[in-house]
Amino acid sequence: MKPCEKPTYGGYYTQAQVHEIVAYATERGVNIVPEIEMRAHVESAIAAYPNLSCIQKPQSVLPGGIYPVDYQTSYCAGNEDVFRFLEEVLTETMSLFPSKYIHIGGDELDKRFWEKCPKCQKRMKDEGLKDVDELQSYFIKRMEKFVVSKGRKLLAGMKYWKAGWLPKLP
Ligand SMILES: [Zn+2]
Repeated sequence: MKPCEKPTYGGYYTQAQVHEIVAYATERGVNIVPEIEMRAHVESAIAAYPNLSCIQKPQSVLPGGIYPVDYQTSYCAGNEDVFRFLEEVLTETMSLFPSKYIHIGGDELDKRFWEKCPKCQKRMKDEGLKDVDELQSYFIKRMEKFVVSKGRKLLAGMKYWKAGWLPKLP
């Protein structure tokens, strides 16, 4: 998508369509691994539920991959609503996809917001986490525990942006 290009809205599969796709794949010996992005690349979820971000302010999905400096692309790791939301999404996902593996993305976390967020800082203090790197491990491990408790296995990438690569938050 080019900068300033108009975003498109909509586009989803119904549960009936997912059942059809999974059956079609299964008949041909293909396993579909669903991916639910987290902690980052969640602009669309935050556009719909601004309370799930650290900054708690409405923001739209921006086309073109060019974001304002204070645009958050990740969930708040200190907010229990985030984990409740993700557990509900994963539960529905696992009910639709029989795959043994569930992918949760996990790449390109912008940690600047976690460093400034009181809820994320409180989480670090309560859990004895020494920095935001340990906070991101906490996030992934917590989701892994949930996925494993449902008899599935977690797949995740762990890349995140290097400190200093992104501009400082205002
Ligand atoms: Zn936060």
